[in-house]
Amino acid sequence: MEKTERLYYSDSYLREFEARIRAVEPASGGFHVWLDRTALYPESGGQPSDRGTLDGIRILDVVDEGETIAHLVETKPEADGVKGTVDWKRRFDHMQQHTGQHVLSAAFERVGGYKTVSFHLGAEASSIDLDSNRLGEQQCEEAEDLANSVVFEDRAVKVQFRSVDEANRMGLRKMTSREGDVRLVEVENFDLSACGGTHVSRTGAIGLIALRKVERMKGLTRIEFLCGGRALQATRREFKTLEKSARLFSGSAVDLPSFITKHLEELKSTLRSRELMAGQLAGYIAQSLAGATTKGEGSKVIQHVVSAGSPVKGKHLAHALAAIPEVVALIGEEGDPARLYFAQSPGGPHDMGLLMKKVLAETGGKGGGARDFSQGGGLGADKLDHALALAERLLE
Ligand SMILES: [Zn+2]
Repeated sequence: MEKTERLYYSDSYLREFEARIRAVEPASGGFHVWLDRTALYPESGGQPSDRGTLDGIRILDVVDEGETIAHLVETKPEADGVKGTVDWKRRFDHMQQHTGQHVLSAAFERVGGYKTVSFHLGAEASSIDLDSNRLGEQQCEEAEDLANSVVFEDRAVKVQFRSVDEANRMGLRKMTSREGDVRLVEVENFDLSACGGTHVSRTGAIGLIALRKVERMKGLTRIEFLCGGRALQATRREFKTLEKSARLFSGSAVDLPSFITKHLEELKSTLRSRELMAGQLAGYIAQSLAGATTKGEGSKVIQHVVSAGSPVKGKHLAHALAAIPEVVALIGEEGDPARLYFAQSPGGPHDMGLLMKKVLAETGGKGGGARDFSQGGGLGADKLDHALALAERLLE
């Protein structure tokens, strides 16, 4: 098939065009349509493909086949000639991100000689990989400032075609190995690159170039960035989040880190004192349980169920009870799953680990322990009373 004329090469702002259909073939998900000319950009060089319509039929994908471009459409177009449209919102967004990338890559090269080894234009954010992992925060900010000054100066972005040899002699940011004529994209007095993508016509149209994440990897630094409309959306979203968060503290957004630090410290100290109080409370409950239980022969066997929300945990109570002489504590803790804690005063006559194994063999669940203390978990909530009664019977 003859070469498809790429209308976006000379006019990235073309949103509507007329073309003749050269071929149509069934394809997975619809039909592939080949035209004599197209304004739709196929996925290439890190920039995703365009969307749009052919005679009102939705375009699902645009594929670069080298010489030709295939348009994947939902249904088969009927006429020989079609009117094509480009989804401009999507395209212009890509033009902003892509031109922003040229400027940012050139800025990193000027700031520290860092070369861009790859570019990815994602649905949310874009990124470039730089050939070094030694960039500091200051250099990132310098590059960001330089890139934005090029935006503020509203420099022209021009396209020209040259032979490979000529192009490589013109001082490209990155030498090209393409054959034949190459398309050069020049950001006036700032950057010259071989690129087949779509770009805005002046740097002012890129809008703000905002660095986001800086991720150091083996020998590389990945710089995530947003341009234009995406930078605006992110700024708005994040400002709202900060405002909402600041309102929770009845303060302003700049004070958030100190508010959060202060509250985290308060929370930590509250948790510490709660732990301390729970320990003391367990001691009182243990004393009162022991006082209310009459002692037969041997040890005092004390059975108790701790409710799920109680600040005193079953483990606390079992240890507090075992601190009283001649006591065996059989403690259940409500919850799903429920838990068991068996404990005896040190050196008592029973084996709590063995007792736990025997009980769990009947009720299900997992656990075990040593002679004076054992614990079990994974019990069904309805098995707790049965487990405690069984443990008491086994002690006799
Ligand atoms: Zn480009």
